[in-house]
Amino acid sequence: AKVLVSGANGYIGAWVVRTLLEKGYSVRGTVRSESKGMHLRSLFAGFGDRFELIVVPDITAEGAFDEAVKGVDLVEHTASPFHFNVKTPDDLIIPAVQGTTSILNSILKHGQGVKRVVLTASTACVQKPGQTPPNGKWDESSWNEPAVREVEEKGAAASPVAAYQASKTLAEKAAWAFVKQHASSINWDLAVLNPPFVYGPPIHEVASASKLNTSMLDFFNNVVRGAKSDAELASVSGSMVDVRDLALAHVAAAQKSAAGGERTIISAAPYYWQEILDLANSSASPEIAATLHKGQPGATKGKPYPATYDNSKCARILEIPFRSLEDTVKDSVADFKARGWF
Ligand code: NDP
Repeated sequence: AKVLVSGANGYIGAWVVRTLLEKGYSVRGTVRSESKGMHLRSLFAGFGDRFELIVVPDITAEGAFDEAVKGVDLVEHTASPFHFNVKTPDDLIIPAVQGTTSILNSILKHGQGVKRVVLTASTACVQKPGQTPPNGKWDESSWNEPAVREVEEKGAAASPVAAYQASKTLAEKAAWAFVKQHASSINWDLAVLNPPFVYGPPIHEVASASKLNTSMLDFFNNVVRGAKSDAELASVSGSMVDVRDLALAHVAAAQKSAAGGERTIISAAPYYWQEILDLANSSASPEIAATLHKGQPGATKGKPYPATYDNSKCARILEIPFRSLEDTVKDSVADFKARGWF
């Protein structure tokens, strides 16, 4: 079977492409320019003609994916901006929402062979910032309306974080609305994946540590490099999944019939930043550990998490055996060392 992966040169996209190729699929990846595909061409050269690239310069344009969807059986839409460097929320919302509707419209017109569309959404579509979930756990019944409201109310003054969360929420909603609207004329169903923070070794093109994608730069690299205060390290909590496991989830979501029509949280473990730091220090060699920040070692040991995610649907439908936070941190530190970043 042939799979179209949008955003193939991204942190997650590249791992999705690699995992699909390893599982025997043919993959057509989209990139914004020929030069953004060069690293991928050499990375996946061993897969011969099972890997190809197509340039889609502007994902928001009508018909942007018309050529890309021809002859494919499955679509994995990962392309969407994840950064906070914006002037107005629309800088994130327009590519997120129109990128999603434009790929779905192209499938409607030219993707007669498509059986399943997998959308890389986020727990940003699920959690409600500032609120505590029932029983301490967010599940798939929750939507991040507060972020959408903040953007509606504040416009350009909305925080970039709220703008990102709104972009993901509105894009996921647009996908479900599209499916509902075209139910009688489409031959495919939608599987949505909602991962929290994604960590683990990158395989896409990363020229230097400062060019890492947002989750590995702001929320991993900056944690182990000491860019966060002790108070933040001991209080900021999140949940994570390893990028390699999220890629496996993208394959499983394409394969398992029960994933169709579902949004599924893909979360391995909750953490505090201090825990990441402690694990980085304990897994690194003494000479690297000497260069790592320390914070307050052990300060969050046994501390309850403010919120976690219910991953029972993922376990039931996708059956992914998640790596531990420890393995993800260890492998990321080893990867940074191999690149000469420590
Ligand atoms: P990256 O920034 O590494 O990759 C993003 C991909 O989307 C790149 O291929 C990028 O292309 C493409 N893209 C971004 N903006 C545009 C645009 N305006 N037009 C066309 N293409 C665009 O991020 P990730 O791999 O981390 O993110 C991939 C997906 O996963 C996103 O949908 C993100 O929201 C989601 N996600 C990520 C999480 C994480 O922790 N990393 C957590 C939860 C969800 P280009 O290189 O040309 O900019």
